[in-house]
Amino acid sequence: HRIITAAAQLDDDALEATIRPKRLAEYLGQQAVREQLSIYIEAARKRGGALDHVLIFGPPGLGKTTLSHVIANELGVNLRSTSGPVLERAGDLAALLTNLEANDVLFVDEIHRLSPVVEEVLYPAMEDFQIDIMIGEGPAARSIKLDLPPFTLIGATTRAGMLTAPLRDRFGIVQRLEFYTADELAAIVRRAARILGIVCAPEGAQEIARRSRGTPRIANRLLRRVRDYAEVRAGGEITLAVAQAALDMLKIDPEGFDELDRRLLSLIVENFDGGPVGVESLAAALSEDRGTLEDVVEPYLIQQGYLVRTARGRMISAKGWRHLGLTPPPRQLQ
Ligand code: ADP
Repeated sequence: HRIITAAAQLDDDALEATIRPKRLAEYLGQQAVREQLSIYIEAARKRGGALDHVLIFGPPGLGKTTLSHVIANELGVNLRSTSGPVLERAGDLAALLTNLEANDVLFVDEIHRLSPVVEEVLYPAMEDFQIDIMIGEGPAARSIKLDLPPFTLIGATTRAGMLTAPLRDRFGIVQRLEFYTADELAAIVRRAARILGIVCAPEGAQEIARRSRGTPRIANRLLRRVRDYAEVRAGGEITLAVAQAALDMLKIDPEGFDELDRRLLSLIVENFDGGPVGVESLAAALSEDRGTLEDVVEPYLIQQGYLVRTARGRMISAKGWRHLGLTPPPRQLQ
């Protein structure tokens, strides 16, 4: 059973790689971001220099990694990829930096999780394309300066607020990814279906899009699960009815909320009288990690107006009460 699951996961990863957009023209939605970046990229290409450092932030699955690869492709340069928690020692970063070619992109995912010593190395690298390396130990230790080729650092983070100010200030380009509209996601689903050879009616794509929490990664995953359902239970085509039945079976409600979303909302109502309640208490009651709640679950509920973040904690909005089929308390009706 474990082997089958691992194989299915591999399969999914491979499919994911084939549908990941490679050029800006295939990167759907995020119009403002695309427009700005296309100008900066063209300018950098004309100058023959490195693009300014880019910080991309937004909830998981909105396309930060994809956009970084797209930027490198459009610039016609290599992309090296790493992540904040992986870079444990200053030397790890130095090794990456000294192996870059001129104008290459270094992509650092979860850049808010860099250790302070590594961050220190990054400052002069970003600013002057130089690093200080310590050679030797003890009294004989000395530091030497190394010149680096010009490069573009692309940092991705789920929350810009987690970055230290000196790091944030060193990015010349800061882009925030927004949740996608249902129409944008429907276009993403139709594109993925075309590439994967899945027969999907426009209404079927729209239904998957509507229930994908504004997130392309979720849309692509649901498309594959709905395809499985269509192949086994229906003639293989994803129609509106097939999409609805498959998504209901996956316990994704018409608003696109999954079980964790609903558990969070009902917990606040049932155990905390609608809030306000601190995120730590919610995490403990749900046996979920606080970071998961803050990065993955809450942003969409807040953006959709079901949950409100106040100074004293999280509260359910009147819309949230109604979603659970309950009448909001009088204090929330004014
Ligand atoms: P993040 O790095 O923000 O967690 P990813 O870049 O890994 O998100 O995106 C998840 C998946 O969603 C990608 O593999 C890609 O297939 C799809 N995707 C993301 N953004 C877009 C987009 N703008 N257009 C089409 N597909 C997208």
